Amino acid sequence: MQRYFVPPSAMQSERVVIEGGDAHHIARVMRMSSGMRIIVCDGEGRVWEVELLAVRADRVVGRRVAEREETAEPPIPIVLVQALLKGDKMDWLVQKATELGVTALYPFVAERSVARLDGASDKAAHRQSRWQAIAKEAAEQSGRSRMPTIARPIGVGDVEAVLGPALRGHRVFIADEALACRGDAPSLFMCLERIRADAANVPVPPIAVIIGPEGGFTDAERERFAALGAEPVGLGRRILRAETAALFALSLITATAD
Ligand code: SAM
Repeated sequence: MQRYFVPPSAMQSERVVIEGGDAHHIARVMRMSSGMRIIVCDGEGRVWEVELLAVRADRVVGRRVAEREETAEPPIPIVLVQALLKGDKMDWLVQKATELGVTALYPFVAERSVARLDGASDKAAHRQSRWQAIAKEAAEQSGRSRMPTIARPIGVGDVEAVLGPALRGHRVFIADEALACRGDAPSLFMCLERIRADAANVPVPPIAVIIGPEGGFTDAERERFAALGAEPVGLGRRILRAETAALFALSLITATAD
């Protein structure tokens, strides 16, 4: 059954009103008609089965038939703090991180990011809304009931102000390429194994992972993230591309949490 995220305001009563691109998708792409059913999510974890009552390309009206239990969300918040990557790598990573269950993604412009972006610029706002639309589509496709929040890109100077509050209470790991190949260095895998082994006594906490840019972290960035309580970890013996590192780290975290 097709799934759509609508703002909570569209689901105040038994009636659900869907407009814009989703209405067009229902009417023109999926060619649905009244009597047919869709799944509607409010993005905050509540899911309903909805029967279509009136279908137009600009406006669809339905009625909530039954609330459904949401089962596709990880039991803990999972946060990715990702250095800005060049080209459409971020688009791809937003989609994959959403499929893997990420709750929030904070892009930051690292010293050695190939791409440059001023977080306060219109271009940054445009990239953020583009990524949020990609996250919506990936959440619908993967059967999620919560839509990840894609934050506005920040500069490293804003890390404390933005991530301090956002990561409070999280276990924060920074994947540091300098720890690759170092047998004595802690690995993300081992740290997560320990969290899982302790889960009977200590509930698995919210987990955040920080991934650097194509050029790697500077020492100043390492210090900034250390000030947030980030624990440096390795991701194995090889130097992974940033997007591979993010996918690998999120896969380990999701496997631990799910
Ligand atoms: N230019 C850097 C170098 O050659 O050392 C590599 C940076 S790597 C392409 C991009 C990011 O992926 C790193 O900043 C780190 O966050 C992560 N990463 C890649 N391989 C890793 C590993 N083996 N251990 C920990 N982090 C890794």
